[in-house]
Amino acid sequence: MAYYPDFSEYNYVRRLVYFPFLTHIRRMGPQLNIGWLSLEHPYPKAPSSPEFIERLDALTAYHFWPMRGFHVCEFCDTIVEHPRHGLLGAAEIRVRAPDCWYASPNLLLHYVEVHEYRPPDEFIDAAMTGPAPFTPQYEKDLDDLSLATQHGLNVRPRTPPP
Ligand SMILES: [Zn+2]
Repeated sequence: MAYYPDFSEYNYVRRLVYFPFLTHIRRMGPQLNIGWLSLEHPYPKAPSSPEFIERLDALTAYHFWPMRGFHVCEFCDTIVEHPRHGLLGAAEIRVRAPDCWYASPNLLLHYVEVHEYRPPDEFIDAAMTGPAPFTPQYEKDLDDLSLATQHGLNVRPRTPPP
């Protein structure tokens, strides 16, 4: 999988943006990469709180911009099958912050749970205090982002986690 430093600008998938949505995008702020890890680049390591892992788990229920094919976890050197979400590595997640979006591979949950990747505090704060998954606000924001960036496929979970 491609490596991107945390807080670099997301440009993994570029799409033509229609003019009417430009102001909308500006209002939503940039998308910044978080958690695009690679074997060659050391990453900050620390255990995460159960509350943050729970929130990340709920965010992972949304498959943003699903792609064909799977990215493997380079640390496990295998395709990751998550106990609750099935195969990871073929979609992304989005976290809303006040002035930007954070864009992460959905392998992030695995990185945090299994490899103790510690995302930046800004990301954790946004995940914990921003619009929560399974709320109308989060889903509206995600739909707007999807529309504005032409990331057409934005697969919503059918039911919230227990
Ligand atoms: Zn792994």
